[in-house]
Amino acid sequence: VIRMGKAEHSVITTCAYCGVGCAFKAEMQGEQLVRMVPSKHGRANEGHSCVKGRFAYGYATHKDRITKPMIRERITDPWREVSWEEAIGRAASEFRRIQATYGVDAIGGLTSSRCTNEETYLVQKLIRAAFGNNNVDTCARVCHSPTGYGLNATLGTSAGTQDFASVGEADVILLIGANPTDGHPVFGSRLKKRLREGARLIVADPRRIDLVKSPHVGAEHHLALRPGSNVALLNALSHVVVTEGLVDEAYIRERCDLDAFEAWARFIADPRNAPETSENVTGVPAAEVRAAARLYATGGNAAIYYGLGVTEHSQGSTTVMAMANLAMATGNIGRRGVGINPLRGQNNVQGSCDMGSFPHELPGYRHVSGDAAREIFEKLWGVGLRDDPGLRIPNMLDEAVQGRFKGIYVQGEDPAQSDPDTQHVTAGLLAMECVVVQDLFLNETAKYAHVFLPGSSFLEKDGTFTNAERRISPVRKVMSPLSGHADWQITMMLSDALGYPMRYDHPSQIMDEIAATTPSFAGVSYEKLERLGSIQWPCNDAAPAGTPIMHVDRFVRGLGRFMITEFIPTDERTGARFPLLLTTGRILSQYNVGAQTRRTENSRWHAEDVLEIHPFDAESRGVVDGDLVALESRSGAISLKAAISDRMQPGVVYTTFHHAKTGANVITTDYSDWATNCPEYKVTAVQVRRTNRP
Ligand code: SF4
Repeated sequence: VIRMGKAEHSVITTCAYCGVGCAFKAEMQGEQLVRMVPSKHGRANEGHSCVKGRFAYGYATHKDRITKPMIRERITDPWREVSWEEAIGRAASEFRRIQATYGVDAIGGLTSSRCTNEETYLVQKLIRAAFGNNNVDTCARVCHSPTGYGLNATLGTSAGTQDFASVGEADVILLIGANPTDGHPVFGSRLKKRLREGARLIVADPRRIDLVKSPHVGAEHHLALRPGSNVALLNALSHVVVTEGLVDEAYIRERCDLDAFEAWARFIADPRNAPETSENVTGVPAAEVRAAARLYATGGNAAIYYGLGVTEHSQGSTTVMAMANLAMATGNIGRRGVGINPLRGQNNVQGSCDMGSFPHELPGYRHVSGDAAREIFEKLWGVGLRDDPGLRIPNMLDEAVQGRFKGIYVQGEDPAQSDPDTQHVTAGLLAMECVVVQDLFLNETAKYAHVFLPGSSFLEKDGTFTNAERRISPVRKVMSPLSGHADWQITMMLSDALGYPMRYDHPSQIMDEIAATTPSFAGVSYEKLERLGSIQWPCNDAAPAGTPIMHVDRFVRGLGRFMITEFIPTDERTGARFPLLLTTGRILSQYNVGAQTRRTENSRWHAEDVLEIHPFDAESRGVVDGDLVALESRSGAISLKAAISDRMQPGVVYTTFHHAKTGANVITTDYSDWATNCPEYKVTAVQVRRTNRP
């Protein structure tokens, strides 16, 4: 399908990988792709791209693509290609049989942050209106759900505060739990440019990421904390701000809830939050914490950028609130160059959350128990909606193991590889009577499926993605769907077969419905997207061209609310049997579980996941570079090669999770964030043993 040569025409679309959301020009000969080049007009990337996005077309036309619907009676049977009618009919009849046998709540669905806003909206509509329950969840559950909870509680909205360009006016950058030069490379380049111009960098990360020692742009402070101690570190930074008189009192008087501030200030000034006390927990010298806090509070515009090293913890939501506390205390929210900015892992994490794909929230973050919001959708959709929250992903799996949850529709998501404690996930899937997977490939979850519906890549459909800076960007169809149907059409077919017909001729009509029902999208339309190129929500009568910076004059919730952020250690503990802590991350050339990047030119790089281990820990185990080691936890064991690295601190090891054959999630725990159930991927007690020497 991909042909080299001269382009006849081009189509601007949006990268399907990370939350930067780079715009690309797909150069075409008829319906055949010649090449993808970054677009100079993309506001998020300004003509730049990374090695992932440039070769992304490779997976879209890979020979592993499944293009015909398939069914099978049992998961041990071979797949049988069938017509769309038969596959959809089988899925619908099985779902209805399960509901008749086990009750209306025995089925649910997952949507994906890799699907478009319009597709995600339709999946949650299918679940709420056709399934008749709120058992819908998204893979944002396992990455940035604490961002939504923490920012909503403190600031009043579940989104980052700035546009990417704002980093160009930051004087101090606190980077915590993020590695943008690998995970978000185009934003990483923008950040480095600002550092070259003189901004000062504080990195809080257990591992010495590249930015710590990059030539000319390295970090002034590397707070190499122990995994699991984010809250203790942030509380210590705030303790210095409060006890050394570095609070922006005028800002707090004008912008924040004073009672909440005073309660928080008393809490944070307590000696147990002092850097000298928390040093025992974080491992970061108190003097380093004090110096970093002074720099953040007094160095001019101070901006926080963070990633999954913040959210994927048992205190992920608390950590997000602790960052908001620090930023509010120093007056660093509500203008350019400051703010709190989640670097979202997947292209449409923000959008999938906005579209109501959580079991407790309708589109626009309105709780399902709210009568006014529910009535808007009931009237438009012509059905009564449930007012009780449905099941989250881990609850669906728990209920399945208990025999109460029997059927699932999984669109564009692969929980068997990407969710923690793989054994538990597979036990849940095995216990179900109908697993319907809609995907490009026979992924790990499809091993447990009874119906496979071939999905469409980002090149085969129209729609929109919303990136980490709330920017809604067009996804434009450059070739026909290989399976004959785009994902939004497949969801409609399933809904039809379930007796709840949906009538849309084009995703623009779905966006019109989103705009009509969701206040922050009220001014969004495909016509405006064509005219402006992209739009940052909120976009409505008050901000017809969108909103680059939020909370400018007042917080969305009115007064900013300080939250008490008590540090509570994770229940995952090291001990004699598992003395090391494992933390996980990504590398530049690969994306998430690798299902896409391993089917592109990127497969040339990073052929396997390796275990980074400090020389001291390696030597004490007789491990040399390249040894095959067993990495064991309380959940399981995997085998991979050791890479001795002084990036690591003693006692902490690190790996990536891009390869199914390594399967890092076999060993991660089932602990999760107290508020959102986001899994604690970043802290697992492990042991490392040398198994052989190749
Ligand atoms: Fe841009 Fe991210 Fe795609 Fe790279 S992976 S091109 S940084 S959107």
